[in-house]
Amino acid sequence: MEILTRGQPSVSDRRSFSWAAPVATLLNSSKNPRRHGTLLCMALVEAEHLTKIYDAGDALGRSPANPFRAVDDVSLTIEQGETLGLVGESGCGKSTLGRLILRLIEPTSGIVRFDGTEITSLGARALRETRREMQIIFQDPFGSLDPRLTVEEIVTEPLAIHDDLGKPILRQHAAELMRAVGLEVTALSRYPHEFSGGQRQRIGIARALALRPRFIVADEAVSALDVSVAAQIVNLLKQLQKEFGLTYLFISHSMPVVRYLSTRIAVMHQGKIVEIGDTEQITSAPRHEYTKELLRAVEE
Ligand code: ADP
Ligand code: MG
Repeated sequence: MEILTRGQPSVSDRRSFSWAAPVATLLNSSKNPRRHGTLLCMALVEAEHLTKIYDAGDALGRSPANPFRAVDDVSLTIEQGETLGLVGESGCGKSTLGRLILRLIEPTSGIVRFDGTEITSLGARALRETRREMQIIFQDPFGSLDPRLTVEEIVTEPLAIHDDLGKPILRQHAAELMRAVGLEVTALSRYPHEFSGGQRQRIGIARALALRPRFIVADEAVSALDVSVAAQIVNLLKQLQKEFGLTYLFISHSMPVVRYLSTRIAVMHQGKIVEIGDTEQITSAPRHEYTKELLRAVEE
């Protein structure tokens, strides 16, 4: 077993993981094992009282006199190796929350910790280092890929920015990324417009994987795709999670998609998490009226 060749994890390491967690997760050490009762739990991501208030006037006529709480006092944790699904109707604040967690936007108040480090107070340089470990996959594979760059340039761009690697090494990385996302190596010399929507999303995923992140926010990553293509991408995400020991925040307005992929589900409504729990509990014994509404909508 690969794990033996890399040395046995210590007893405390082993106790801190569920046996169901992928082996790759075992190889990730964490700085912040915390004790909950007799169990050691390791949250990779912790959000505490995250709030984002938009107070500029916008298209809907909201003004500073009427500040709008896009994310309203949200606290949650995402455990190492799990997929937390974030579901709720359009406009409820999912994307804002995802971006706050990655600190792509600044919170009005509240904090985010990543692997025990508070990232909401990091300076630019430290944040840049932490960013390597956190990536985002967007909904729109068309809009998020620069049409003037080849696939090789697109997927190696994060590496080229962060590290000083020569062309041959970058090419090797690029080929490995193509293999990981199920594209031919010949794709590297082509341009985004030459690919289908599903293939483009694979390119977007390859780019997100380039820096070997530990945490990925997938924001409506399959929502623009046909059902069968969406299913392939969802299965790819599952497979990559195992292979690379990834932790996901999987954002979608679609309960069936979230249910299929998630270990736990957080239900968001008007800027608040109204219910969070294991996928089984949320889908078979929902407690909140809004969750029941979302599930009814699926049945209809
Ligand atoms: P979701 O991803 O669930 O569809 P968003 O997080 O994109 O929701 O948006 C939540 C709410 O915040 C929406 O009402 C949206 O109009 C508003 N919003 C998002 N970004 C901004 C912004 N930059 N300025 C003002 N309002 C915003
Ligand atoms: Mg959104």
